[in-house]
Amino acid sequence: MSVASKLSMIVETPADGFKMDLPLPARSLTVSATRTTMTGNTPMVFAGVSWGEISVMNRVSLQKDCAGYGLSRRGFCGRVLGATAACAGLSASGGGAEPVPAGKPDFPLVDYHVHLSPQLPIEKAVALSKERGVKFGIVEHPNRLAAKDGFSGYIDLLDRYPVYKGIQPERPGWKKRVPTAFVDQLDYVLMDAMILPIEGRRFLHLWLRGLKVDNKEAFMDRLADFTVAVILEESIDILGSATFLPHCLVAEYDALWTTDRMQRLIDAALHRNVAFEINAQYEVPKAGFIRMAKEAGARFSFGTNSRDEIAGKLDYCIGMAMECGLDKKDLFLPQVNRQTEISLIK
Ligand SMILES: [Zn+2]
Repeated sequence: MSVASKLSMIVETPADGFKMDLPLPARSLTVSATRTTMTGNTPMVFAGVSWGEISVMNRVSLQKDCAGYGLSRRGFCGRVLGATAACAGLSASGGGAEPVPAGKPDFPLVDYHVHLSPQLPIEKAVALSKERGVKFGIVEHPNRLAAKDGFSGYIDLLDRYPVYKGIQPERPGWKKRVPTAFVDQLDYVLMDAMILPIEGRRFLHLWLRGLKVDNKEAFMDRLADFTVAVILEESIDILGSATFLPHCLVAEYDALWTTDRMQRLIDAALHRNVAFEINAQYEVPKAGFIRMAKEAGARFSFGTNSRDEIAGKLDYCIGMAMECGLDKKDLFLPQVNRQTEISLIK
């Protein structure tokens, strides 16, 4: 019995560096089970998963109770990749399972949020990008460029490699400090709402672990207001780490990002043609937001916010794409989605 329509597959963090040798065309997704255990009615499968050049040993969990679905030792199917849903045969007998080719995703993988660093110089980034089968978009904070190599040096460097060129301004009002001619040469501008302005011209750095929030509702209203302002007023193409919450609020994500607050972000993004970054490192946004935004016609990009070897590790993004059925038309592409109004920056 096929359970393809009733299950979704989540690929979690690689566990043990298992690598499969797959005689398959690039970019098909393949699953082969090596071990299955049952936790209550939920099967836990440890499987080799390969997508394009990515191949890892992962735990695969099925999101629904499978008891009524005729799941047997013989096999079952997982729904993957939304519209290109693929049915992958999984042998539960442990070891020796043959990889079964599955559906082909109809979009290329891009990590639009990679920072160069001493640990990740451009040559290493490009090698990693090739190895992972993920194109990289490089971003830098404009204030660093102004202080260091200069804006033109950045373009000259990145032009020599097969990467997208982006910047990540940190503060509102960045346009006044960055030359328009430089911005026009970029593929995109990515900005997040993780430095939240508060009274007295001060800022909260939302990623800091020690951050405490007393009045959660007031905080969320302020965060939603600020995020909407970033989307509407900062001439950006991608909202980085969309719906990011400080560590102390993460457990209440679904309650705090109310439908009303999510709707405000989505309306603003549609108005300005801004994509929401699905961030692999922070694991935001969650599926509820992604589904709602997709339904409304919003677009998404994938990103890691990396400065090292995690660049291109898009497990969370791919998992969300599978779970929420994202396909090519839902994804940001610089050539298509770049805001034309960016060249109007004064
Ligand atoms: Zn960043």
